[in-house]
Amino acid sequence: MKMGASVQIRAISEYKLQEIENAVSRWFDGIKSNRFRRSKRVLIKPNMLGAYLPSRAITTHPVVVEAVIRYFLSKNKEVWLGDSPGGSVSVSKVWELCGFQELADKYPIKLVNLSTHPYRTVESNGHSLKISNALYECGIVINVAKYKTHSLMAFTGALKNLYGLVPGMVKSEYHRLHPDTHGFADLLLALYLAARKKISYNIIDGITGMDGAGPSAGKVQNFGLLMGSQSVSALDYVASKMMGFKIKDVPYLQPALIKDGILPSQITVPRSFYNYRLDADIALVKLRKEGLKYLPPILSKAFQKIYYYFPLISDRCIKCGVCVRSCPVEAIAWQENGYPLVMRDECIKCMCCHELCPIQAIDIYKSFVARRFMR
Ligand code: SF4
Ligand code: SF4
Repeated sequence: MKMGASVQIRAISEYKLQEIENAVSRWFDGIKSNRFRRSKRVLIKPNMLGAYLPSRAITTHPVVVEAVIRYFLSKNKEVWLGDSPGGSVSVSKVWELCGFQELADKYPIKLVNLSTHPYRTVESNGHSLKISNALYECGIVINVAKYKTHSLMAFTGALKNLYGLVPGMVKSEYHRLHPDTHGFADLLLALYLAARKKISYNIIDGITGMDGAGPSAGKVQNFGLLMGSQSVSALDYVASKMMGFKIKDVPYLQPALIKDGILPSQITVPRSFYNYRLDADIALVKLRKEGLKYLPPILSKAFQKIYYYFPLISDRCIKCGVCVRSCPVEAIAWQENGYPLVMRDECIKCMCCHELCPIQAIDIYKSFVARRFMR
């Protein structure tokens, strides 16, 4: 039976702890679940993509996480705070720069490195997936995502944030195995289906977010929104729509809503957010490649000669090597001049390098036709 779901939204313009705490406390108090009341241990899963300051709007802001921590500590729960950052970045550096180490110094919580924490293998929707045991060791799981565009998936919110439950470099391996957008979306959907029953509540931190070339090289935007829902798919549907995406622009969204039995028309939002639209730049990431699938192979091949894009390392590069170490197919090699180079024939266009470069030195080069077609 198809049903609805509710999405809570608050207009919050600054990271003021009291205001955010009021919102999340109200949302959590409304959860009617025995497991939520009785479970002793909570996993808070923010977006810890890499070692970035909160002002960059790449990772979940620590004040939002702090509000969640305070709620559960006030209920005498044991709080774990964990994620598996992307690529080969040092997790302690991520905790430090993102402001999570400071939270662990201030509150009696445990920082859990999901890159090295034990995992289990779960069969889901035709995929065999490695998922952190932390998901199963905590009776309450709070998914606290960041509101951004995404170069491969168009949008990143609650569902994409679950990818951090996959440990360490296994994430890169999955990118290698599922190089195209739709293959990777299918993997994300399988991960979601495996994890969804364990997720108690989802928050998207859109007080500041990112548009343009997200999830790390875009423009910081003061969207002024904090959103929450018990439903991952309903929350992503509402959040992506407010950014200007259509349901098919985000490849895992419609299948996730169908699997959840949720009808978009029956998702409820606060009255003041009916038909709410942000002025977000999504042209760079909007996927219009669907049509290519329906071209005859000969035309498709010809079209790909004029329609192409690839990551291009700019002269802003500081030669840190993160991209070289993170590329799942070893398509980035050091050149004699000390700079890395993307070998286009090897590249599977997963965009991990673009996402993980700490100083956003990797641009996305698009052919003239790709520029027209992807807008
Ligand atoms: S492109 Fe970015 S990630 Fe790669 S070496 Fe240069 S600065 Fe580091
Ligand atoms: S070069 Fe970048 S986009 Fe290409 S496969 Fe490697 S990480 Fe992915």
